[in-house]
Amino acid sequence: MEHQIKCEHCGEWVDAKLEQCNYCGKTLREEEKKEAYSSKRLKDSLEPQLITIDDDDHPVLKIAKRIVQLGQVIFYAIITFLVWVTSWTIG
Ligand SMILES: [Zn+2]
Repeated sequence: MEHQIKCEHCGEWVDAKLEQCNYCGKTLREEEKKEAYSSKRLKDSLEPQLITIDDDDHPVLKIAKRIVQLGQVIFYAIITFLVWVTSWTIG
């Protein structure tokens, strides 16, 4: 017997090799793809994300944002340093 999966859209059992359900025509394993996407998103969110300074920002806001950016850079530098020290001490 061939491997079958249940279509998450219409609930019919379809051939697992298919990309689209042959009953409702919708994409199969859509949830899996979404999960893969969200785990990628999570990974991305762990990367340092500095706030952006727009050219049309008020000069005072620009200075404030630069200070925040500097703080973020220092923060990530400390985290990176701590991770490095921890892995170095354990290893
Ligand atoms: Zn279906």
